Amino acid sequence: MSNLDRQAALSVCGGRGFVVAEPVRELLTPRHVQLGESTEVRRLLPNLGRRMVGAWAFVDHYGPDDIADEPGMQVPPHPHMGLQTVSWLHEGEVLHRDSLGSLRTIRPRELGLMTSGRAISHSEESPRPHARFLHGAQLWVALPEAHRHVEPHFQHHAELPTVTAPGFTATLILGALDGATSPGTTYTPIVGADLALSGGTEARLPLDPDFEYAVLSMSGQAEVDGVPVLPGSMLYLGCGRNELPLRADTDAGLMLLGGEPFEEEIIMWWNFIGRDSEEIVQARQDWMEGRRFGEVKGYDGAPLRAPELPAVPLKPRGNRR
Ligand code: MN
Repeated sequence: MSNLDRQAALSVCGGRGFVVAEPVRELLTPRHVQLGESTEVRRLLPNLGRRMVGAWAFVDHYGPDDIADEPGMQVPPHPHMGLQTVSWLHEGEVLHRDSLGSLRTIRPRELGLMTSGRAISHSEESPRPHARFLHGAQLWVALPEAHRHVEPHFQHHAELPTVTAPGFTATLILGALDGATSPGTTYTPIVGADLALSGGTEARLPLDPDFEYAVLSMSGQAEVDGVPVLPGSMLYLGCGRNELPLRADTDAGLMLLGGEPFEEEIIMWWNFIGRDSEEIVQARQDWMEGRRFGEVKGYDGAPLRAPELPAVPLKPRGNRR
C-alpha cells in the first residue's frame, strides 16, 4: 500500500537519539488514516515520539474489513524511492503490479517484498473476485546509504521458513529468528516475523540484545512482556533483551519487528525516503513529469498525483529528545 495522505507530513527519522538502549515497554497507539475511498488504516510508524524500529520506518495495519460488496483495496500507481515495501496478509489477497512488469497475487503469509532502490512505481488492488475479508499490514524498510540506489527488484516468496512449538508458529518475513532465515533480501541487520499463538499458549522468543524491537498485534488477546497489546497497537521494547515472554489468552496474531538501530538520519516524505530536501523535491518532480519511476501497465485508473510539498524547507535534523 502507500501513503495516500493529501497533506503528506514530513518526517525526519533515524539517528541514535531516539533509540532506547535498555528494555522498555512503550505502548504505541495508532493514528487512523484514510487510504482512498474504502480503506482506513491504523498507522503505528511513524508515531509521535517513535519514528523507526531498526530500519522499519513505516507500519500500517488494516482490517479485517468485510469487502464482499466493495472494491476493496484500490491503490493507483505511485512511486517509491530509498526503501523496501513489505506486504503481509492474514486474510484476503492483493494484486501487485509494478514498473518492472511484475504481476503477482499476494496471499496470506506470503512475502511480497519490493525493493525500490533508486526508483520504482507500483499499484495494489483487491483482485476481482476477491475473498470476503481483507486483513494485513504494509511496512517499509529504509535502505542504508550503501544500497539505497540499487536497481529496483520485486520478490514473491510463497513458502517461508517457520519456527514451531506447541501452540506457537513463527513465520520468518525478513531476517532470522531461532535458526530460521527468510529468503527475502535485506540490506541492514533486521528481523520481521509473524507470530501465531493458540489461546492459552506461553512462549519465550530468543532475541538479539543489540537489536531494538517492537511487537504489533494484529488479532486476539495477547500479552507481550506482561503488557496487554490490543489489535492495532504496538509495544516498543527497546534494546538489550535476550528473550521476550509472550502469552495468548485467545488465538492471537502478532508481528515481531526488530533490527540494529538505524544510524543514518533520513527524510521521509510521501512515498520517498531521501537524505536531503533536494532529493525529495527532485523525486517529486520526476514523478509528476513522468521520468525515472517507469510505468505500471494494466491498472484501471490514473496514477496518483504527488501532494504539494510543505512550505517549510525539508532539512534533516538531529533526533535528540
Ligand atoms: Mn506503495
